[in-house]
Amino acid sequence: MLNIIIFGKPGSGKGTQASLIKDKYDLIHISTGDVFRKNTSLGTDLGKEAKKFMSKGELVPDKITIGMLEAEIKSFHPCNGFIFDGFPRTILQAESLDKLLTNNNLSVDLVVALEVDNKTLVERLINRGKTSGRTDDQSEEKINKRLEEYENKTKPLINFYKNQEKFISINGFGDLNEVTNRLISIIDSTIS
Ligand code: AMP
Repeated sequence: MLNIIIFGKPGSGKGTQASLIKDKYDLIHISTGDVFRKNTSLGTDLGKEAKKFMSKGELVPDKITIGMLEAEIKSFHPCNGFIFDGFPRTILQAESLDKLLTNNNLSVDLVVALEVDNKTLVERLINRGKTSGRTDDQSEEKINKRLEEYENKTKPLINFYKNQEKFISINGFGDLNEVTNRLISIIDSTIS
């Protein structure tokens, strides 16, 4: 099994790149943001609760997010592996993922971060907001809140995974295919 985390700030291209490579490695793509949005549009209790935080650009509390992620993993397991997009975003989430995988004799194999500068990220998100219908992409205030959440709660994961010798960052700026190729070469060298 191969378990990969695509890491990066909002708008760095995690979802796009995860969708582009999942079939190549036969991985299940789990995007916590997508699962929350699906629940929100279905009007489930989880969706209603998550929306309170998402609409403000804040992270959904760990207890809710971890419970949801565990249910997602269980619903697809057994499989060839996962590509996690947007999870983990806090140290507690990362520790919970490690525990869950270890209990199943599995582990995170690789964390690849897509590096993109903040100015480009804000431009990308504002542009995406014009067509995505995502309210959290439509105001600079919410985007800045999401970047602030990243700095305060998600960035510490870099050292968490560096300490496990699993963290690699690549340039996420530029042509889509070029970024995909950079990602593929990192994954290939990890699994070979
Ligand atoms: P994304 O689609 O990854 O940009 O996520 C959109 C929003 O969903 C985030 O701004 C959070 O409000 C929420 N969300 C997604 N993943 C997580 C997570 N791992 N932990 C907490 N909140 C999350």
